[in-house]
Amino acid sequence: MQRFLCTSGGPVHFDVLVAGGGLVGACLACSLGRLSVLKDRKLAVLEGQKLKSLDKYSKSYVPETYSNRVSAITPGSAALLDEIGVWQDIKKTRFKQFNRMQVWDACSEAHISFNCDDVAAPRMGYIVENDVIVAALHERLKSFPNIEVLEGVRVEAIQSDNKDKASWLSCTLSNSSLLNTKLLIGADGATSTVRRAANMENYSYSYNQMAVVATLQLSEPSDNLTAWQRFLPSGPIALLPLSENASSLVWSTSPDHARSLLEMSGDSFVDAVNSAFCEDYPRHTFVESSLATLNAIIQTVGGGANQTVFQLPPSILNVTDKSRASFPLHLGHSPQYVRRRLALIGDAAHRVHPMAGQGVNLGFSDVQCLANLIKEAAGQGQDLGSLHYLRSYEKERLQNVVPMMAAIDGLNRLFTTSVIPLVWARALGLQLTDAFAPVKRSIMEFAMK
Ligand SMILES: Cc1cc2nc3c(=O)[nH]c(=O)nc-3n(C[C@H](O)[C@H](O)[C@H](O)COP(=O)(O)OP(=O)(O)OC[C@H]3O[C@@H](n4cnc5c(N)ncnc54)[C@H](O)[C@@H]3O)c2cc1C
Repeated sequence: MQRFLCTSGGPVHFDVLVAGGGLVGACLACSLGRLSVLKDRKLAVLEGQKLKSLDKYSKSYVPETYSNRVSAITPGSAALLDEIGVWQDIKKTRFKQFNRMQVWDACSEAHISFNCDDVAAPRMGYIVENDVIVAALHERLKSFPNIEVLEGVRVEAIQSDNKDKASWLSCTLSNSSLLNTKLLIGADGATSTVRRAANMENYSYSYNQMAVVATLQLSEPSDNLTAWQRFLPSGPIALLPLSENASSLVWSTSPDHARSLLEMSGDSFVDAVNSAFCEDYPRHTFVESSLATLNAIIQTVGGGANQTVFQLPPSILNVTDKSRASFPLHLGHSPQYVRRRLALIGDAAHRVHPMAGQGVNLGFSDVQCLANLIKEAAGQGQDLGSLHYLRSYEKERLQNVVPMMAAIDGLNRLFTTSVIPLVWARALGLQLTDAFAPVKRSIMEFAMK
């Protein structure tokens, strides 16, 4: 049964307060809830919206329609969800594994495909509805006696006394009550109130793109184990498997085009998606002849054995009613993840383009890192708000997040241009990477963590 916090009659004190019970915040709370070193500490999660439940996915009734918000989850993230005891529930509810990913360029013949066999893994990852993951996490939260959960309440302001080392950090909530904590975790997403209230810097850059999402029915059922992504000059379009005959669409495009995709009839939308995956775009003879020469060289030096055969993506039959929606795309980064008594995790700290399917996976890695350091600090009897160990969290995560953000941003820029030298460079880069197994393996190992 969900417990609700009573905050009347003065501030309530918590050792750790997680602001935001979304994918990343709820995952951190579950990770902390299972630490024996914190069993006598008081923890709380504040979620601005109503909590989600797995009830609607009960055995007797699994909704036929998929949510249009899904995430590609890496095997590393799935292992974390397993460790905290929610992966079983997710598996029992609904998920789809994928074993292969094909990426190709609309402006050339270049393509690359990644197969789980290349890294001797049983799968490349999973596609799971965000609602299913969050519902499983919210259910799991109920099992921790030391965690209070408050729903429909937001952190609005924070106050700290920087001079007094023993002090608490005070949070004012949207219902005007006050909570004091030794450590506040800002897991409240890209527009984080916690980050703003703490006056922490945040660099944000709009891609001037919208991600159009939708649930699509495929023309023919198949094992549907491949994730597809084609780079169009206006942005990438991706098809992520949901079942044998359904896939989820993420199409990053200009705001005007996104608006028209949402407004057009279902049939016209399906035609637009099918042609985006198959339509011929203008090709440049210099790029094509360079690619042909490169392919000949690869064959001669024996790299051809590793080159993959291009496959056509499945064709789309239908779009699920009311499943179309769009989201603005930004790059966002806070150069500081911590302050005394405060740490940012997930999109509150870093926000990336969805083309590489890494946003929530980076957030889950934040969870692993921070939970380990909190465990260590609590074990040593340190103040949980101490900058001493929080700085280690910041250092470790910046070292991992910044290169990933730079790689994703660089790839997006490289692929959304029709400037011939760049089209030439990326076509050759894709083809070379496809042919050289060790490079491909390194990329896969980096992205599947
Ligand atoms: C179209 C699209 C496709 C994507 N696909 C992928 C993918 O395939 N793989 C992947 O890894 N990532 C993907 N992402 C990124 C991923 O969705 C985000 O990285 C992820 O949702 C971040 O989780 P979070 O918990 O940090 O933030 P959020 O999901 O934004 O959750 C924040 C939570 O905090 C609550 N909240 C907000 N303010 C307050 C407050 N003041 N007090 C209390 N609670 C508050 C909110 O209600 C919410 O529940 C995609 C993103 C988009 C837009």
